[in-house]
Amino acid sequence: MPPRRDADFMDVEFESDISLDDDADYDGKGKGKGKAKVTDKKKKDKGKSKAKDQAYTWEANFVRSWETVQEDESGSLQGSVEELLARGRRRRLLAPASAIRRTIIRHLVLLLDLSSAMMDRDMRPTRFDLMLQYAREFIVEWFDQNPLGQMGIVGMRAGIGERIGEMSGNPQDVLKAISERHKMEPTGEPSLQNAIEMARSSMSHLPAHSSREILILFGSLTTCDPGNIHDTLDACAQSKTRISVVALAAEMKICRDLCDKTGGQFGVAMNEGHFKDLLFELVPPPAQRSLPRPGGGGSANPTADLMMMGFPSRLPDTSPASLCVCHSELKSEGFLCPRCQAKVCDVPTDCDICGLMIVSSPHLARSYHHLFPVQPFTPV
Ligand SMILES: [Zn+2]
Ligand SMILES: [Zn+2]
Repeated sequence: MPPRRDADFMDVEFESDISLDDDADYDGKGKGKGKAKVTDKKKKDKGKSKAKDQAYTWEANFVRSWETVQEDESGSLQGSVEELLARGRRRRLLAPASAIRRTIIRHLVLLLDLSSAMMDRDMRPTRFDLMLQYAREFIVEWFDQNPLGQMGIVGMRAGIGERIGEMSGNPQDVLKAISERHKMEPTGEPSLQNAIEMARSSMSHLPAHSSREILILFGSLTTCDPGNIHDTLDACAQSKTRISVVALAAEMKICRDLCDKTGGQFGVAMNEGHFKDLLFELVPPPAQRSLPRPGGGGSANPTADLMMMGFPSRLPDTSPASLCVCHSELKSEGFLCPRCQAKVCDVPTDCDICGLMIVSSPHLARSYHHLFPVQPFTPV
C-alpha cells in the first residue's frame, strides 16, 4: 500500500514527459530545492523548508525551482537562502511560549532499523548511511538540549534486538557506540517486538519522575515477531513508555498504533530534508500530559513532586587513584557522591551505591530554559 498523508493523490496532475537529468546537479546543499522527477518513484527532493505542505516527491507537480528563487540586484542567491533559514526559525518560535510542564530528566532508547530494507537507495546515499548521519547529529543536539538526559541505542536486524549502546548520559559514549559502521551492516528482517522489549527492559528500573521514551527509525515495511506485538504495546502504555516512530518507507498500522496509544509522534519522511525535520522535532522534551491524580481530580497544574539530587564534588586530576563504582577502573579524576562518598566517572548519573541522582548545577540550569522559554522577539 502506498504511503498517504493528507495530500490527495487524485488531484495531482502529472506532467510525465518532463524528466530532469539524474544526479549530476545534486550537490546536497539545497540547490535542488523543489525539483522533482515525476517519472521516477524515488524521493530525490532536497526541499526542506516546505516539506510540511508538499506532497510526496512522486506525487508532486513539476516545480520550476529557478522561478521560485529570486536573485537580488547583484545576482546573488544569498537573500533567498537567508529567507528560507529565517522561515524555519520563525516556525520554531511559533511554539507556545507559555510554561508547560515538561519532563527534563529524560531517558531515551534510539531504535535503529538495521534490516536489509535500509540498503534502499531512495534516500541518498542509502537510507542506512543517511540514518547514521542524522542519528549522530540528533544525538549531539539532543544532549545539548537535554543535559540531564540519558540515551541508549538498540539495533534491530536478523529478527532480533541487539544492544548497541548502553544507557549513558555522556554523548561521547553514545556517539562511539554507532561510530563503527561495519559493525552495524544491515541484514535480514527487523523485529519490532523484540527490539521494543529490549528497550523497555533497559528502562524498567527507572523512577516515575523520569520519562521513558523510545524513538524508532524504521525503514522496513515488515516486522517478524515471536509473539503478539499488541501485548508489548499494552505493556508500554501501562509503563508510560512513549514511542515515537519516524518511518522512511510508508505508514504501517502497527507503527501508527504504537505512537497513538503511547502518546508519541508518528511521521513518514518524504525526503531527506523532511526526515531531518521529523527527527529534530523530537529533540525538545515532550509536554507532560496531565494525569488524573488520586484525589486531585486531574487538575491542569498537578502538584509538583520533589526529588532528591546531589551535587558532587570534583576530584582534581592530581588526587590519588582509586576505583570508580561504575566501571571498577583505577583512575584519579572523578566525582564524589555527596551522600555515600562513592566515586563515579561522569555526571549526570545515578549513584550506583545509594541511588542518589548526581547532577552538576550547570546541567540543571541549562535544563530550565525549556520550562521558562524566552518570549519570541518582536521584529522591528
Ligand atoms: Zn567509572
Ligand atoms: Zn551515593
